Amino acid sequence: MTARLLDGQGLATRMQEELKPEVAAFAARHGRPPGLAIVLIGENPASEVYVRNKLKSGAEVGFRTDLERLPATATLADTLALVERLNASPVHDAILVQSPLPKAMGHDAEQRVFDTIAPEKDVDGFTPENVGRMVQNRPALVACTPSGVIELLEREGIQIAGRHAVVIGRSDIVGKPMALLLLQRDATVTICHSRTPNLAEMCRQADILVAAVGRAGLVRRDFVKPGAAVVDVGMNKVTEEAVARSLFPEGHPRLALFLKKGSVLVGDVHPEVAEVAGALTPVPGGVGPLTITMLMRNTLRAARMRLEAGA
Ligand code: NAP
Repeated sequence: MTARLLDGQGLATRMQEELKPEVAAFAARHGRPPGLAIVLIGENPASEVYVRNKLKSGAEVGFRTDLERLPATATLADTLALVERLNASPVHDAILVQSPLPKAMGHDAEQRVFDTIAPEKDVDGFTPENVGRMVQNRPALVACTPSGVIELLEREGIQIAGRHAVVIGRSDIVGKPMALLLLQRDATVTICHSRTPNLAEMCRQADILVAAVGRAGLVRRDFVKPGAAVVDVGMNKVTEEAVARSLFPEGHPRLALFLKKGSVLVGDVHPEVAEVAGALTPVPGGVGPLTITMLMRNTLRAARMRLEAGA
């Protein structure tokens, strides 16, 4: 079997086109576009790329997008003050604070920041209020990556209700909300993590397998029931040749890319899984682009919820 590739990039492009007229209509109704503020602290190269892509997509769909930068030396108090200012801003409907924060801010800095963002502007869906509302299946702004996965499964016609979904990973930003969203759509859900014994055996029971781990190629052929839908959330930069060679055979274009650039982006799912799975998200071009698109959708939703009662 060769898995059908689930084209997240294509869906992301279509969804952004769908959003444009809605954003234009909002701007016409309210005399201003939805406003997204992104807070970036320090100079983490990966964060710079993520933020640039988010700002670009925001501008493309017609949002006002503002980058609010603080230096790496900024304190937690500086960051909280900036968030408070954005909470009070009439032109910003959405606030995103890019992770990770500088280590010097302390181990609970991210939690303190998420506790401070106004829930109605929390387009990442990380505040306790939005997480709690999601758990109770009430209207909420929901984390972008897992909502993107659901969107992809539903639009690709992959049935969720009544199926067994296994999620590897239990982080607050991906694994836990992913499991809840699948549960809300009537899947029977198993959550696996680093202390799960017999991981391959657990995963083999899945009709839908979601890998959100951060380990290049962890999910091998023997983790996958033939025909299962496999969603690869992992984004891992491989810089060791031996690892690249363990993933891609000689002559594979991705190995050639590695040999040329010295690094290659891979998921948590080994490429050999394509021979067993029924459907599979590629990396890159699968879940990643949808995460940004869901951020755009959450921003429009937040703007409507703030300005249009009953939206
Ligand atoms: P995280 O906070 O590090 O969580 C990783 C999870 O994987 C943890 O629950 C951990 O278990 C589990 N785990 C680690 N090693 C394992 C193993 N050998 N076997 C089974 N479980 C294991 O990571 P995250 O933020 O959820 O992100 C996961 C991956 O998704 C990363 O590659 C990240 O880059 C990617 N990601 C992609 C997007 C996107 O837009 N595509 C967005 C966000 C994240 P414990 O809880 O027991 O430690």
